[in-house]
Amino acid sequence: MSRVVRIHTSSGTTGIPTVIHHTQADLDAWTDLVARSITATGAGKPDIFQNMMTYGMFTGGLGLHYGAERVGMTVIPMGGGNTRRQIQIMKDFGTTVLHITPSYMLHLHAMLAECGVALKDLRLSKAYLGAEPYSEDTRRKIEKLWKIDVYNSYGLSEMNGPGVAFECVHKNGMHVWEDVYGVEVVDPLTGQALEDGRQGEVVFTNLLREATPLLRYRTRDIAAILKGSCPCGRTHRRISRIAGRTDDMLIINGVNVYPSQIESVIMKIPEVGNNYQIFLEKNGALDSLTVKVEISSGMFKGDLAQIDRLKERIRESLRASIIISPRVELHEPGSLPVFEGKAKRVVDERVKI
Ligand code: ADP
Ligand code: ZN
Repeated sequence: MSRVVRIHTSSGTTGIPTVIHHTQADLDAWTDLVARSITATGAGKPDIFQNMMTYGMFTGGLGLHYGAERVGMTVIPMGGGNTRRQIQIMKDFGTTVLHITPSYMLHLHAMLAECGVALKDLRLSKAYLGAEPYSEDTRRKIEKLWKIDVYNSYGLSEMNGPGVAFECVHKNGMHVWEDVYGVEVVDPLTGQALEDGRQGEVVFTNLLREATPLLRYRTRDIAAILKGSCPCGRTHRRISRIAGRTDDMLIINGVNVYPSQIESVIMKIPEVGNNYQIFLEKNGALDSLTVKVEISSGMFKGDLAQIDRLKERIRESLRASIIISPRVELHEPGSLPVFEGKAKRVVDERVKI
């Protein structure tokens, strides 16, 4: 313990938070990896970096903070929350790069108009989005809304935090920094290693860490190692977007559904707004699934038949993808709960057995 200089805990994705100890060498190595990740996105010294991730025990705050300083960016250590102030600071300081969760990034956009700020008042060009799963369609939606480049950022406290895998300028999967993180993808049931290209549970070994060494740590995150090389020339292999976690799979009337499948469907529908929620309850012996989505406020001024048609279109698209047919509820913008940290999309009120 006398050589330990910092303690972090995971946000407790599966219940009890895990405690991670760092020596100074551990922190230095982590900082280098975050700096490398930032550099891979083309950002650097001229950038103004606003870190909207929560500071404190959560690794997203301090992790990116030190890496960005090492690159020489100008760092604004805002931390999470206080949306109006975040927007004001973005405008006043000419923020060019943000670090934030995808759900909060969507919320932030919805708040721009309310704060009387237009995109042309901002200098934003990039956002690093991570800490929670999001679909490729959500990325595209955010890029279009904000007219910026979005880079996927992945990490977990057990492997330091952010800076385990990060997208380069080609945005085609996340390079795992394999000189430090040994990566394998295994069948979650048997533990057998799978060949590249096949989706399974991601397993990491940190090859450097002094204080909390972990060998073949099972992340419960589901992804595939991508085949082929990246045009950027980096030889570190890439992993796909995280498709979900082995422990967030929902079993709805016997059908396996991942929240990411639902998100992917609804984010393709242009009328759908910035937020959604997956709601499960018991209806007699059966499970009943309700997908609540916010739609643009203009829609509510239209005629009712139009709203019904939209509901039906969402229901039908979901049924085609997840096999079961959900109830769809449409909500006013800003009416579903907003999260400053990791979003909690699933509300499961079925009795747990
Ligand atoms: P921290 O976010 O502080 O590392 P945890 O260690 O509790 O907190 O969370 C790590 C988990 O967050 C990962 O195992 C993964 O499930 C999720 N996560 C992090 N980044 C991403 C990402 N880019 N895409 C999907 N899931 C992510
Ligand atoms: Zn690359």
